[in-house]
Amino acid sequence: MSFIQLKNITKDFNSKGAPAVDDLHLTIERGEIITLLGPSGCGKTTTLRMVAGFEEPDSGSLEIDGSTVFDDHKSVPPEKRGIGMVFQDYTLFPHMTIGKNVAFGLSKWSRHDRKHRTKEVLELVGLGDYADRLPSELSGGQQQRVALARALAPKPHVILMDEPFSNLDAGLREKMRFDVENILRQANTTAIIVTHDQKDAFSISDRVVVMNEGVIQQIDAPRRLYQCPANCFVAQFVGKTNLLQGRLCPNLMHVDTHIGRVSLPERSERLLEEVQISIRPEGCRLTEQGKYSGRVERVTYSGDYQELEISLSENLLVDERMTIYAPVERYVEIGSIVSFEIIPQLVALVER
Ligand code: ATP
Repeated sequence: MSFIQLKNITKDFNSKGAPAVDDLHLTIERGEIITLLGPSGCGKTTTLRMVAGFEEPDSGSLEIDGSTVFDDHKSVPPEKRGIGMVFQDYTLFPHMTIGKNVAFGLSKWSRHDRKHRTKEVLELVGLGDYADRLPSELSGGQQQRVALARALAPKPHVILMDEPFSNLDAGLREKMRFDVENILRQANTTAIIVTHDQKDAFSISDRVVVMNEGVIQQIDAPRRLYQCPANCFVAQFVGKTNLLQGRLCPNLMHVDTHIGRVSLPERSERLLEEVQISIRPEGCRLTEQGKYSGRVERVTYSGDYQELEISLSENLLVDERMTIYAPVERYVEIGSIVSFEIIPQLVALVER
């Protein structure tokens, strides 16, 4: 049986739009790191808050480690759900030392165990020597590790983190993703992390739950999510992509589009005629005599690659542009004609 189960969870704040969370099903295995990813307002935080018990669902049921914590008949309060929460702004007590901050949730433990556990988790997060400092004497990354240590200290069933990296600058953010994942793995903790940042989600999680307008769009491992997006929303939200309309060929291996015939990575399982495909920009490789060609309209240099916007139609009334990535060593002039191949592994059939 799964470690955490959310069944038919719905929450409507009775605003005019759709429910904040709509009939959500999610199962999480013990030790898994899951991220909820989606644009602002898609229902990620509401979902996290319902798991924590800070928000009550309108309907559905919720189980953590074999115990029902919410259904039609009961609602277990947050402090009895065995969860550890790390908030976006860390919420450390400024007047307490790091050691006291971490020991805060251990008031029911014996003095000896509390001391031992505080030392153990501070060492786990690499701050063994910082117990006597105040939060203001620590960097943002260190404060975050304290917040994580404090959440882990009582050995919760699950750690919940809301936008844990959003207060950090780009360089530190990258390091903290790595550190937080390491700490969670070492502690062998199940974690649910909310983020709107694809890189956060991809670098840290076993599976990513992509949400939009309160509804789960796809749940998959990062690689699969990127290579096989279920629909146009996921394809566009997770990385850049080119969406093309086309007709599936009878052999179910190719799609005829306005830029020509495009090969799929595998035979389509669906027998549709009209289809949409997603082609990732890095799935288009510049070559001397590629099957496809177009005029370069724009070049955006990013240091490690350059992004080309290419128009593929002679007919200027039709806006048929694609974005493709090119290696930086290749000089590409605006207005020149380039030809390219499409790598089938970065092509996917997507639902509308
Ligand atoms: P963000 O990344 O901006 O935090 P989110 O994906 O976490 O967004 P939620 O905070 O879960 O989204 O909000 C989902 C929807 O529910 C939004 O439309 C929001 O306005 C609404 N909402 C959230 N909390 C409340 C509340 N307490 N009262 C009324 N509406 C709410």
